[in-house]
Amino acid sequence: MRGVCKHYADGDVDALVNVNLSIASAEFVAIVGPSGGGKSTLLNMLGALDEPTRGEVWFEGKPLSQQPSLDRFRAHKIGFIFQSYHLLPNLTAQENVQLTMFDTHPNVSQRKAEAIRLLERVGLGDRVNHRADKLSIGQRQRVAIARAIAGNPPLILADEPTGALDTERGNEVMDLLDEIRIEESSTLVVVTHDERVAERADRVVYICDGMLRTV
Ligand code: ADP
Ligand code: MG
Repeated sequence: MRGVCKHYADGDVDALVNVNLSIASAEFVAIVGPSGGGKSTLLNMLGALDEPTRGEVWFEGKPLSQQPSLDRFRAHKIGFIFQSYHLLPNLTAQENVQLTMFDTHPNVSQRKAEAIRLLERVGLGDRVNHRADKLSIGQRQRVAIARAIAGNPPLILADEPTGALDTERGNEVMDLLDEIRIEESSTLVVVTHDERVAERADRVVYICDGMLRTV
């Protein structure tokens, strides 16, 4: 990110103020800071879910503003994991994982097989056909991780992935993310309030009032 600013006209908020941040390939970065400090806004910018008001986000040497399709960019390059999972409650675990695979796995049977493989990978091989709303909270977060890693994106972004989990479940989810990023050499950026999550990272970035400080 070079000189990234984000101004929300709604509320007249400067959520990011001249943010410069370089993240190396395969690095694990934790983003910490007070509520309202700009963590989610920063993560959304890294994942091309929102556009800066000023400045530029570069990915693999190319500015996002020059990507021909941000949809395709996200489908191939970014895996997103949210605190509240964003699963569709009436769909099965497998159907939820398949949701984001249309671009990376155009063939239906390939998509199904890959969704099952990913669910097995996150330890949910026996829950493939369960509806999302019948799964425990920890299991839902695992489905969300399986969905995020479909297509093996080089960058995984997680916004408070352990925020709704107890300590044990939270540790399991972080162990899983750690394993996956090492196996796949993925870059991982995690927004967190949890010191134990931040301690696992290669680097901790502190953001407050939209401004960065490395700690
Ligand atoms: P954090 O994730 O650290 O809690 P956010 O990035 O969500 O912080 O928010 C940063 C600031 O921007 C806050 O003041 C918040 O109220 C504001 N904000 C976030 N999203 C929007 C939005 N879509 N419209 C207007 N203001 C927003
Ligand atoms: Mg947030």
